[in-house]
Amino acid sequence: MISVRNAVKTFGTKTVIQNVDLDVKNGEVVVLIGRSGSGKTTLLRMLNALELPTSGTITVDGLTYKNDDRKSQIAVRQKSGMVFQNFQLFPHMTALENVMEGLVQVKKMKKSEAEQIALNLLQKVDLLHVKDQYPVSLSGGQQQRVGIARALAMNPKVMLFDEPTSALDPELVQDVLNVIKDLRDEGMTMVIVTHEMNFAKNVADKVAFIHNGHIEEIDTPERIFNAPQSEHLKKFLNVIA
Ligand code: ATP
Repeated sequence: MISVRNAVKTFGTKTVIQNVDLDVKNGEVVVLIGRSGSGKTTLLRMLNALELPTSGTITVDGLTYKNDDRKSQIAVRQKSGMVFQNFQLFPHMTALENVMEGLVQVKKMKKSEAEQIALNLLQKVDLLHVKDQYPVSLSGGQQQRVGIARALAMNPKVMLFDEPTSALDPELVQDVLNVIKDLRDEGMTMVIVTHEMNFAKNVADKVAFIHNGHIEEIDTPERIFNAPQSEHLKKFLNVIA
C-alpha cells in the first residue's frame, strides 16, 4: 500500500531524513517511535506530500508522486486521511459541518448525502450527541474524534496519525486510542507517530524506531520492546520506561 524508497529530506543544510526505505502492506499498522526531533513527523508528512522528499520516491496505492507535479501530490494526498496532533478543525463549523466539509467542497457531494455519511461517522466515533456543537465547546478528545471522522469521510486507503493523543489530558487519551483500535480491527492501513508505548505494543503490526532521520530498527512490537538490538533503541526504551 505504501512504499518509500531511499527517501532523503533536507532543510537547508540539515538532513532530517536519511535514506529511508519503508513498506506498509494493505491492512498493516506501522507505528513510528523515536526521540523528539528524530524525524518521525517529517517522514509521516512525506507520505501524503505535505513535505516533499529532497530525493527518493514515495508510492501510495500504486501512485508515485513527483516534486514538480502538483496534481500527482494531490492525488496521493486524496488516498490518505491525516489526523493532526492539534486537531486542526474549522473553528467556525459545527462537528457535523467539519465532517461534511470535504465531501461537499472536494467531492462535490449533495449536502443531504454528505450529511448522512457524516452522521454515520459521528456515530462511529460516539459523538452523535454533540454534532451541532462547535469545536470550542468540545473536549480535546472529542475534537480529535471529530478529526478522525473528518479524515474517514474522504474514504481514504490509508490513515496517517501524527501524535494523535499528545495534546490530550490523560483521561481523554483512551477514547481516541479505542477509535484507532477499532479502525485496526476493521483492516484499515495506518501509520501512526506516537509516544504512547503501550498503545504501540497493542496496536502495531510493526514498530519502526527512528533515530537521527533513519529507521534504525523495524520489527514486531514484541521484538522491539522485549528484545531490542540497537544500543540507541535500548537507551530510548530505558529513558521512557
Ligand atoms: P517530535 O517527536 O518532537 O514531534 P519528530 O521526531 O517528529 O519530533 P520532526 O518534527 O520530523 O521530528 O523534526 C525532525 C527535525 O527536522 C527537527 O530537527 C526539526 O527541527 C527539523 N524540521 C522539521 N520541519 C522543519 C522545517 N520546516 N524547517 C526546518 N527544520 C525542520
